[in-house]
This record gives sequence, structure tokens and C-alpha cells, in this order.
Amino acid sequence: MKHMKKRLTILLLIAGLFLSNLTTSAQQIKIDSNWVRDQEPFRIAGTLYYVGTYDLASYLISTTKGLILINTGIEGSDTMIRRHIETLGFKFSDIKILLATHAHFDHVGAMAAIKQATGAKLMIHKKDARLLADGGSSDVILGGHGPMFPRVKADRLLEDRDLIELGDMQIMVLHHPGHTKGACSFLFSVKDETREYRVLIANMPSILGGTKFPGTRGYSTVGKDYAYTLNAMPKVQFDIWLASHASQFDMHKKHRPGDRYNPEAFFDQEGYDTAIADLKKEYLKKAHITQ
Ligand SMILES: [Zn+2]
Ligand SMILES: [Zn+2]
Repeated sequence: MKHMKKRLTILLLIAGLFLSNLTTSAQQIKIDSNWVRDQEPFRIAGTLYYVGTYDLASYLISTTKGLILINTGIEGSDTMIRRHIETLGFKFSDIKILLATHAHFDHVGAMAAIKQATGAKLMIHKKDARLLADGGSSDVILGGHGPMFPRVKADRLLEDRDLIELGDMQIMVLHHPGHTKGACSFLFSVKDETREYRVLIANMPSILGGTKFPGTRGYSTVGKDYAYTLNAMPKVQFDIWLASHASQFDMHKKHRPGDRYNPEAFFDQEGYDTAIADLKKEYLKKAHITQ
């Protein structure tokens, strides 16, 4: 309990950091309360489902050999995610693989609990494995205050272009570093009765306050990594664009509770291009690069 309290205090401190630095728009300021707010789970496209909270996206993919879960929200979110998975008619214990777009407390906080409950194999990019194992203590920006989420060890370390396979599903790992050293996007295809959809779950390269360019203490290549990622992301081809936070891809404008199944609602090349262009502008400004 004492631990929980300490962790909560740290969470609040960090929430402040996010709010003051990510962006100053009114829309972003709502993020904090929306992290734990409930959200009706729904089918996005084919065998891909949204099972996260209002803002912290968790994605479920059903395969012929079990389930894959991507991201978990903060510590304690496992109860809500489990309810969402069961509401959709799946078994929580069928989760075989756990993935994360990056090892920050708002996306991997419930990994330890879900791994323990299901015995699923946890996979993370090799450069975020330490963060996961020390509960975020070693994070160059957010760390230094002890664990921010329950520590958990990865079973498989991923690299750029690795393939994650389960049953009839294949997911490609795209290393998009900067936001963390091991931040990743995931690219895969799902099918329904009418067609196939290329899906990108993008880790949008937002810049945490306190990041120093070209190098920050403990992350000397951060500027180079952002430049790489901001150059690589526009080249990825997809039909459906999703991200780590629902707010990052305007999910609530594209889908409202009770809406019918409509994968095309998530076709949004323009939204993606604009979001990446805005992040690039922010990076160039913060890094004092003139073009
Ligand atoms: Zn993050
Ligand atoms: Zn986040």
C-alpha cells in the first residue's frame, strides 16, 4: 500500500510533466483523467479490436492460435482490459503474446499482472527491456524516482523488422526510437469478409519535456533517433492508422460507442501526415534546426 501511494505521487508528478510539455492545447489537458476512464470495446477491423481505456489504447488481435495484446495502460488497468476482452467474447487466458509500443508507465503498467495471470510471452524492443525490468527507474526523462510500475522481464527481445508470429498472424516490428530508445510501431494485415486491411499501430514520436538535443544525459543519440523516426514514418504504407493514445489519432471522432462496424472510419492518411509533420516541426524547433 505504501508503495502504491508513493507510486501514485510519482504518477501525478509525471502527469504534470506530460501536461505541461506535450502540448498546451485544451484537448491534451484532458489526457490525465481519460487514462482510467472506461471505453466501450469494439471491433476495429477484421480480427483487430480496441480493448483499452478512453485514452490509453490497448489492442487485441485474435489469431488461430490465441490472442495478442498490445499495450496495457497504467498499473491496475488489467481489470478493465479483462472485462473488455470478455465482453467481446474472448477468453483472457487465451492471451499468448504481450507487446508494447514503448515502456512508459502509461502503456506497460499492467504488463506484470497480465503476464502473471495468463502466462503470455512478453516481447519488447531490446532497447526498452531495461526500462521494463526496472519499472521505469532508468528512464532518462521520467526516471530516477524508483519504479513507476511493477517490474517485469521480457521473454523475447525485438529488433527492427522482426516478425512476431502466432497462428495465422504476422506482425512486423518497426523501430521508431526517440520517445524512448526502444519505441516501436507495429505493421500487420487483418481481413474481414470483404477485404484485407494494412494496419499501422504507430508510436507517435512526441517529445517529452526535458529532452535535450542533440543528446540528453543517458541518451546521447536522441536527436539522431528523432530525425531517423520522423524520416522513416512518412514512408510506411497502410490503410488504417492507430496509435498508443486514442487522442493521437482522434479515435473518438472516428468511433462513438454503439457505432456499427466500420473499418474505413480509421482510414486517415491525411491525419497521419499532418500529425507527423507537426511533430517534425516541434522537433526542429526544439532541436534549433533551421531548414
Ligand atoms: Zn510515452
Ligand atoms: Zn503515453
